[in-house]
Amino acid sequence: MNPVRAVVALGSNLDGPEARVRRAFDEVGALPSTRLVARSALYRTAPVGYLDQPAFVNACALVETSLAPRELLEGLLAIEHRHGRVRDIPNGPRTLDLDIVLYGDLAMHEHGLTLPHPRAHERAFVLAPLLDVWPDAIIPGRGAASSFRGAVRDQAIERLPDTP
Ligand code: AMP
Repeated sequence: MNPVRAVVALGSNLDGPEARVRRAFDEVGALPSTRLVARSALYRTAPVGYLDQPAFVNACALVETSLAPRELLEGLLAIEHRHGRVRDIPNGPRTLDLDIVLYGDLAMHEHGLTLPHPRAHERAFVLAPLLDVWPDAIIPGRGAASSFRGAVRDQAIERLPDTP
């Protein structure tokens, strides 16, 4: 299978989120048949939904992968698991959350996997890092990712300084 460009969103708000997200970029890039092409800046963002929890650190990884979408998802869930991810409170605190935002131009909806990620276009903490790594990304069925940036301007996100 020819490699496909995919975007993985990373998020964490527990146990050293910045360092954890930086490490997770490498772990995503180390999945079989997968190459890390670009890493976004890190962004500090206020929690959505369940508010009584620490701020999140969010980012996006651009990869080229020959894994099928399900295989990629399974690989990401295994990384989350290694980071001690426990799913208890919906939208609650998490050591590491990995979502597939885009998988080429694929649009699909199956049990446990929806592509593109259904909320990507309405969240500044996904759009800002997505546009870092892929400025002209198209969200299948919706349009240019950049065209949604204005609609989420009111969602406060803070770009963290790069570290060498
Ligand atoms: P959460 O990490 O709590 O946001 O939910 C993760 C669950 O959402 C996973 O177990 C997947 O089965 C499901 N899911 C559906 N679409 C996606 C996607 N595009 N990327 C990651 N997980 C997805």
